[in-house]
Amino acid sequence: MPAEVNSAIKPSEEVKERKGPKGCPVITTERCKGCGFCVEFCPSNVLRMSRSFNSKGYHHPEIVNAEACTGCDLCGVYCPDFAIYGIRTGGRKG
Ligand code: SF4
Ligand code: SF4
Repeated sequence: MPAEVNSAIKPSEEVKERKGPKGCPVITTERCKGCGFCVEFCPSNVLRMSRSFNSKGYHHPEIVNAEACTGCDLCGVYCPDFAIYGIRTGGRKG
């Protein structure tokens, strides 16, 4: 009886999928009141306060280091005005 040799085993390439941002902050600039908590508490330094103002006259956050976002949502946890939150976008499920 011929023995089948499983030569299809390859090194996993899934590791490569881990590169790139794993998340993304979603900002609603018009809700922002410019407290800066999101910038201060983001552990990955994804955000900074923009020089621009929203229509209420507040500076709002902007993304300066998108690649570093993990989607942890700490920005959303600390925002008192529900003007920002983080979502997970990259990596594998499970
Ligand atoms: S925490 Fe919220 S209200 Fe404060 S600067 Fe960030 S988005 Fe604006
Ligand atoms: S989701 Fe996390 S890493 Fe991304 S911007 Fe918000 S606090 Fe920073």
